[in-house]
Order: sequence, then structure tokens, then C-alpha cells
Amino acid sequence: MKKRFTVTSALLYANGPLHIGHIAGAYLPADIYVRYLKGKGHDVAFICGSDEHGAAITLQAKKEGISPQGIVDKYHTINKKAFSDFGIDFNIYHRTSDKLHHETSQDFFRTLEKKDVFTKKTSEQFYDEENKQFLADRYITGECPKCNAAGAYGDQCEKCGCTLSPNELINPTSTLSGIAPIKKETSHWYLPMQNHEKWLKDWIESGYLEGENHHDPKTWKSQVLGQCKSWIEGGLKARAMTRDLDWGVKVPVKDADGKVLYVWLDAPIGYISATKQWANDSGKNWEDYWKNKDTELIHFIGKDNIVFHCIIFPIILKAHGGYILPSNVPANSFLNLEGEKLSTSRNWAIWLHEYLEDFKGQEDSLRYVLCATAPESKDTDFTWKDFQSRNNNELVAIFGNFINRVIVLTNKYWDGVVPPQNDLEDYDKEVLEKLKEFPEKIGSSIEKFRFREALQELIGLSRLGNKYLADTEPWKLKKINEKRTETIIHISLQIAASLSILSHPFLPFSSKKLKDMLNLNDVNWDDAKNYNLSIGKQINKAELLFSKIEDETIEKQIKKLKN
Ligand SMILES: [Zn+2]
Repeated sequence: MKKRFTVTSALLYANGPLHIGHIAGAYLPADIYVRYLKGKGHDVAFICGSDEHGAAITLQAKKEGISPQGIVDKYHTINKKAFSDFGIDFNIYHRTSDKLHHETSQDFFRTLEKKDVFTKKTSEQFYDEENKQFLADRYITGECPKCNAAGAYGDQCEKCGCTLSPNELINPTSTLSGIAPIKKETSHWYLPMQNHEKWLKDWIESGYLEGENHHDPKTWKSQVLGQCKSWIEGGLKARAMTRDLDWGVKVPVKDADGKVLYVWLDAPIGYISATKQWANDSGKNWEDYWKNKDTELIHFIGKDNIVFHCIIFPIILKAHGGYILPSNVPANSFLNLEGEKLSTSRNWAIWLHEYLEDFKGQEDSLRYVLCATAPESKDTDFTWKDFQSRNNNELVAIFGNFINRVIVLTNKYWDGVVPPQNDLEDYDKEVLEKLKEFPEKIGSSIEKFRFREALQELIGLSRLGNKYLADTEPWKLKKINEKRTETIIHISLQIAASLSILSHPFLPFSSKKLKDMLNLNDVNWDDAKNYNLSIGKQINKAELLFSKIEDETIEKQIKKLKN
């Protein structure tokens, strides 16, 4: 049955470039999932974009000596291109500085305000008298009360890693003026999350929403359920939904000068405004993707975003009314690099735009390794040596080698014409039976968000092809038994065709190359269990699908990382 899906990947913060940790967390798994769903004929909106507001953007702007708009324009452009060059195939990569987004999130605020969802509270906050502005947590530094390091931020000490509030800092200083800030009263709109505890608990733990079965909690990752449970059990509190800042979506009511919507009423609503833009551009109705109960909403995120997508955003959607809630939030853990945490500030990362420069035409090698080592249930580690060995020993030696042998032999013996199948032996039948099972096996793993397992199955199919050739040795048979050779190559070609279809979600560039070699068009996921190459069909010459990565290339990358 064909279904409708809205699949989102976490909006990327536009204050820096994209690295492999981002990709492995929220983007590659979503792309694999969406390519698979589309191959099955489902209707999918794949939504993402840049998150372009917040204090960190204005700080970065000061650091680079340009305007906040200049910063987001720069990184939005770099990241949008890197995603596209890497084959992450969003239906739209939108941005939250766009007018349509400002209108959409302001509408949300107005509706929630009218419905009395917020409470308004006045409190004392740090204020910089010289610059005449309230200070976001990141704009205040001081001595850490826990480890006494200098230069701890108002929200966190980077030395000992503890979470802080600006009030705890010893001798707080404004990073804008360098002088001590004063305390001044300010009012904000708060979301009293405790009022929503009961239905949230029901919805997350039993899958029931207002008495109706909404989703099966057993299909949610245990780390996601665990985090939600501990948040709810710890007691939900009121959270400010507005901030005093001059960069962001203005709070659209009276007496709110100098106030903007806080990230929770801004960034996630970016999924909705992006869908509106895409629908406008492509003649669709955006409401089908956000308001129709038959639509499945899936959020791909990293584990640091669980509470916002499973608790805060659902509260906002439900309080607004008329919106569907996510049926799953398959959050990933973190990817480390060479045994250490990825860090933008320490430049301990592999930047996607640099990889694409250094490894031209090898996008799929990185997609392969990031999927094979994805942090699906716990943190995992990316190392350059492992990258090299998976590329050389799996992609080149198994997948690539099988394809190359089949296509070269077809061209050598029959000038590239698909030979007849003739009579089948038991072994042939056994291989063909196994072949038929792969679309279902791989698909079922993808539907359960087990992308590593799915990729293992795909490699399993190329192993099957390799073993079949090694066992039957058609290159030795040609002169002795022409008919038998025809059968073996015929079957091997059908395996190659299935591989071209089933590799598409994981390795879209190689899948396309292989389909071109086989002259194969208009095939969908389920075709992979059938014969796709008719007898007498002309195929093309062999091209290398993957190339070996040499030691010196890897050494260069390791050196680059450590410098
Ligand atoms: Zn500290």
C-alpha cells in the first residue's frame, strides 16, 4: 500500500561547515530511508534547511567581522552545496531567515498566545549597560564555580564540561563590552511543560494519543525512550520561549520590542515553513504532509536533540492543534573521530566540503563507511585506516570485483549481448531463490532504521555473486561448454542488475553508473527480485565502480587532521 511520509533531518546550524559527525547522525540515514521509500513508490517530502538564528550566529559574525546575515549566507551556501554534492537528496533545503519562515513561526506564536498556552513571567537577567542589551548566556564569561577555570561561558564550562547558568559564574563579564553586567528585569513568554506531562507520557510510553493508537513504542529506539522517560520522570518545567536578542524572529505582539522567538518556537517550525515553500514550488498541498492523519512524520536527529523533538515540539504542535505528531524519532548517538570527540572549535573533524575536494568521484566510499559504522545504538568511531580497509576490502574487492568480472566476460565472449539462460542446474536455482529474498530482507531492515544491517545484506548479495562465479569458473568452461557458460553469465548479470537497484539508497552514484553499464532504466525496488535483463539485450563496456585507496592518501589525511 502506498503511503505518505514527511521525513525531516535536523536543521543544520549555519555558523560553520558540515562535518562527518553531522552526516552520520541525521542526514545519511534519512537519505537512505527516503531513497528506499521513494523506490517503493511512496509519496515522500524530505525536508531540511539551515537554522540561522540565535546568539552563536551573532557571536560568529562579530568574530569574522561581518553581519549575521553575511554569516548565514556564507554557511547556508557552503552546506547546501556539500549536501547536494554528497547525494543527500532533500526535496528542499530551506532557511529560517526566509520571510515565509518568519511568518509561519509568528503565526504559531500568535495562535498559542490566543489559546493561553503561555505564561508570562518577569525575572532578572544580565544586562550590558554600555551596549544597552540583555546578554544571552554565551555572551557572559567568568570563572567556573566547579573547576575555577577562567573564561567559562554562561551556559557551560568548556574546561570541565559542566553545565552552568550565568548566575553561577564568579566575576561575570560581558563579552561585548568587557565590563561586569548588571541585573535588570525583563519579561518573557514561558511554556509550562508540566501541564502536558500526562498525555506525553501516555503517547510516548504506550503509543496512545487521545485514546487512539498512534504508534508502536517497540519500534522506537531504546535510547530515545530512555531519555524521554527520564525527562518526564524528572518533572517537566516551564521554559522561556522568547529571548532578548536582536537577531531572530520578532515576537509578534505588543510590548515585545527587542525580543525574538527562542529556538524551540523557531527551528522546528522551520520544517513546516520549508514544506510550505516546497509545496508552493511543486504544486502540492503542504497540509497533506503535516495535518493528515494518514501521513507518517519521521524526525532524523542526533541524540542531543531527543528532548526537543519528542517533548517540546510535540507539545507545541498539539497545543496549536490540527497537526500530526511524529510516529518515530530514530535518533543516532555520536560518531567520534580517531578515538576522540569531533570538535569544531579544536578543528578535530573531517569537513565534508574538503573530503569532496580530496576524494573526487568517491562520494560513495564515504557514504558506505559512514553507514557501515553508523552510531545507531551507541557512539562509534571513524578512523582513516578503517575507511581505507572497508573501501578496499569490501567495496573494491567484493562488490566492484564481482561487477567487473561479469561485465568484462559478457563483453569478451558475446560482445556485450546478454546470453540465454538455457537449462538450470540445482545450484543455479538455489542462487536464484536466494536472490529473490534480498529486496524484502534489505527493505525490512531499512524500515526498522537498521541501516548497518541493511548494508550488510547488500554486501551479502555481492558476496553471493562472487562466490557463484568462483564456484562455477565460467572462464574455464567457455571452450568446453558454451551453453553452461551462457547460463552462468546470464544469472550473474541478473544479480548485477539487482545490485544496481538495491544499492541505490546507500550508494546512489555507483548505482547510477552500474545501471548505465547495464542499460537499465525505470526500475523500482521490487523489480530487484525479478529478471531485469532480457536475452539479447545490449550492455555497455565495464567501468570501474570503486577504486583502491592507497596508504599514502590515508597518511596525508591523518597528517592533515593532526596539524
Ligand atoms: Zn569548569
